[in-house]
Amino acid sequence: MVNQLQSYQLFINVAKEIDLIIGKLGRFIFPVGSYVYTGSAKTNIDKRIERHLCKEKKLHWHIDYLLNNDAVKIIDIKKSEMIECSLNKKTYGMIIIRGFGSSDCNFCCGSHLKYLGDYALAELSANATRRL
Ligand SMILES: [Zn+2]
Repeated sequence: MVNQLQSYQLFINVAKEIDLIIGKLGRFIFPVGSYVYTGSAKTNIDKRIERHLCKEKKLHWHIDYLLNNDAVKIIDIKKSEMIECSLNKKTYGMIIIRGFGSSDCNFCCGSHLKYLGDYALAELSANATRRL
């Protein structure tokens, strides 16, 4: 059986410090720098990724609130066969916002958004197993 691409990572740059309300999760300060968000879609992963790239939409997921900000840009995207939480756990970075994107996480990730400070996203995404 061929493993399906079931998870993805968004490599995100935040150009200036932002103060943002992330739905019911609360209000947070996002420092300048690089972030990696790990997500998954059981049915149509490409459609989900396309949705992330679209600015005009109803805010639903935690990540929608962040991506909606003008200072926030997706630099790169990679897809993976790994399950979302395994991929997230092996991703370098700090958890600065507990519970972000991990409402339905069963693996105690703490957060599916990791902060990498000034770590170069190009370097990180160069290790991608598969790219778009
Ligand atoms: Zn998880």
